[in-house]
Amino acid sequence: MQAFEMSRDGRDAIVVVGAGIVGVCTAWHLLRRGANVMLIDRDAPGRGCSYGNAGAVGSGSIVPLATPGIMRDALRMLLNPAAPLRIPVSYLPKAAPWLPRFVSAPRPDEVRRISDVLATLLAHSIERQIEILSEIGASEIVRRTGLLCLYPDDKALAKDAMAWTLRRDHGLRVERVERADILSLEPEIGPDYTIGMFMPDQAISTNPYRQVTAIASDFAKRGGRVVRDRVVAIEIENDRVRAVRGESASYACDHAVICAGAWSMQLLAGLGYALPLESQRGYHVTIASPGIKVSRAVTAADRKVFLTPMEDGLRVAGTVEFGGLTRAPTRRRAEFLVRDLSRVFPRAQVPPNWSFWMGHRPCFPDSLPVMGPSRHRGLWLNFGHGHLGLTMSATSGDLLARAICGEPSNINLTPLSFARFERH
Ligand SMILES: Cc1cc2nc3c(=O)[nH]c(=O)nc-3n(C[C@H](O)[C@H](O)[C@H](O)COP(=O)(O)OP(=O)(O)OC[C@H]3O[C@@H](n4cnc5c(N)ncnc54)[C@H](O)[C@@H]3O)c2cc1C
Repeated sequence: MQAFEMSRDGRDAIVVVGAGIVGVCTAWHLLRRGANVMLIDRDAPGRGCSYGNAGAVGSGSIVPLATPGIMRDALRMLLNPAAPLRIPVSYLPKAAPWLPRFVSAPRPDEVRRISDVLATLLAHSIERQIEILSEIGASEIVRRTGLLCLYPDDKALAKDAMAWTLRRDHGLRVERVERADILSLEPEIGPDYTIGMFMPDQAISTNPYRQVTAIASDFAKRGGRVVRDRVVAIEIENDRVRAVRGESASYACDHAVICAGAWSMQLLAGLGYALPLESQRGYHVTIASPGIKVSRAVTAADRKVFLTPMEDGLRVAGTVEFGGLTRAPTRRRAEFLVRDLSRVFPRAQVPPNWSFWMGHRPCFPDSLPVMGPSRHRGLWLNFGHGHLGLTMSATSGDLLARAICGEPSNINLTPLSFARFERH
C-alpha cells in the first residue's frame, strides 16, 4: 500500500472524506483559512445525494420532520401505496432501531428545541451560499425566488398549523395567499390548489450538481488536492487520528473530517460509534422542456413534493423511502412524482421516455446533523444533514472549519454532538 504524506510546511494536514456539497464546502472553508487540505471521494465530486436534490435553499425549513401526530400520519401513509412515505415490509427489521426514536421524538417542547437549533443553523444559510458562490464567480446558481407552499384547502393547511406558527415565531416572513394570488405568482398551477403560504425570502439552487463541482474546481484551483479513492478505514493511534486509509493509498494527516453523507457510519462503526443514521431515499424526475414557465420553487404540501425550475428543466423531487444503501431504486416512486407534477402543473408536457434519479438523504431521527469533534482527537464529524444538506452546507462547512482552526463562533455545536445519541 502506497503511503501518502501531505506536505506539512508548518500547516495542519487535513483530509476531508466525501465530496458532496457538505464536504466541498468544508474543504473550501478550511483551505481559505490556510490549511493544507485534501478532499477524497470514491467518485467524482457531487455524484452522491448532492447531485439531484430539489434545490431549495432557505432559512424557513426550521420544522423537524417528526412533529406531534407523526405516528398517526405515518401509519396512514404506510397503508397507502401512493403516499410520499414508504417502508418495504422486508426492510422493517433494519429500520426498527431508527423508527421508535423518530416517532417518540415529537413532544411539543422537544419540537420547539429542535426548531430553535435549526433556526440558528439556517438563519444565514442563503447569505453563506452566496458568499462562496460570489467568491468563485458562480453567484448565478443561487436565486432568491421565494417559496410557494400549496394546499388544496383549509383542512389540509390546518394540519401544518404548528409548523407555520413556529416559522412566524422565528421571525420568518410568511404570507397567506388565495387562489387569485397563487395564479399571479405562478399562472400554471392547477385547480386542485386553492390556498398557498408564500415565503418571499427563500432561495433556490438552479443547479445543485454544478454548485458542488464549481466549489470543488475552485478548491483545486486554489491549491487543494482532489483525490479519487474509496476510503476503507480511519487509522487511529493513541486515540488520535494518524491517517485515512483508502484502497489505493494511506493518507497521513493531523485531522480527518467525515463528510460521507449516508455512508458515514461505514467508516465509523469500526471505531466504536453507534449512531442512528439512516438513508431516506428520495427521487427526482427532471423534464427538460415542460412547455410551461415556472419562476420559483413550489411545494405541494399534501404530497410533500418540490417543483423547482432548474437550469436543465423543471424538477419534481421528493418522497421518503426506507430501503438502505444497496437496494435498487423503485421506479414506482418516480411514477408518483410524475403524477404529482401533472396535478400541480396540469399543462406540463411529460415525454413518454422520462427518466429518474434516486439519492440517499443521510438522516438522524431528530432531524439534526452531527457536527463537531468526535471521541478521537483530530477526527471531526459533519454528516446527517437529512433533507437540508444543500441549505445547511455552507454554514456547516464554515462552522467545522472554525472549530478545527480554533476560531470562535456564535453557534453552539453541543446540540449537534454525536454524544447526544450515546446518552440514551
Ligand atoms: C430527492 C431529494 C431532494 C432533496 N431536496 C433538498 C432541498 O431542496 N434542499 C436541501 O437543502 N436538501 C435537499 N436534499 C438533501 C440534500 O441533498 C442532502 O442532505 C445532501 O446532498 C447531503 O450532502 P452530503 O455531502 O452530506 O452527502 P453526499 O452528497 O451523498 O456526499 C457524500 C459523498 O461521500 C462519498 N463517499 C461515501 N463513502 C465513501 C468512501 N468510503 N470513500 C470515499 N468517498 C465516500 C460519496 O461518493 C459522496 O460523494 C434532498 C435530497 C433528496 C434525495
